[in-house]
Amino acid sequence: MQILEAGLKEAVKFDRSRTFAPLRRFCPTYRVSSLDSIDPNVLWDMSYRAILLDVDNTLIPWKGMKFPDTTMDWIAKCREVGLKLCIVSNTRNKPRLKLLSEKLGIPHAEGPMKPGRAAFVDAMRITGVPSEATIMVGDQLFTDVWGANRLGIASIWVTPMAKREFFGTKFSRLAERMITRLLKRHAE
Ligand SMILES: [Mg+2]
Repeated sequence: MQILEAGLKEAVKFDRSRTFAPLRRFCPTYRVSSLDSIDPNVLWDMSYRAILLDVDNTLIPWKGMKFPDTTMDWIAKCREVGLKLCIVSNTRNKPRLKLLSEKLGIPHAEGPMKPGRAAFVDAMRITGVPSEATIMVGDQLFTDVWGANRLGIASIWVTPMAKREFFGTKFSRLAERMITRLLKRHAE
């Protein structure tokens, strides 16, 4: 397991090619404990030009309406660096998504739920950045990471911001924990 230097602080980098094949689709490129561990300058230096962003429990606690200052600061840094941003969310509450998207001043993709491909394709149309220069940041393996992998988009799996979440997600978390154990064995 390799701890990357400052920039992707405490990031765990996974080697998908060495991962047990049936689990490869759920394998993120990196795992970090919070947004603060991701330095937008480092992403730029790694040749990324766009970030696709999950909302709930990545940028804001589930169902929340007020972004934490840490999120606002991080988004501002991404902008300064010149990274294009687009929201890819599975929330069913469209008016809330529209409002949150306006609060951040970041467009949001349209399309069926992740891990469906369509919303990711729409997001890349919005940013104008191809998959190889795009990275997804999200808190769920079965939506954010799997969806990104289907399109060859790199991903950063962040620890969920809050324990409170959609009832169904709690089941995904059990499976995520099992998968994480297996993935860790194959981390670099
Ligand atoms: Mg989420």
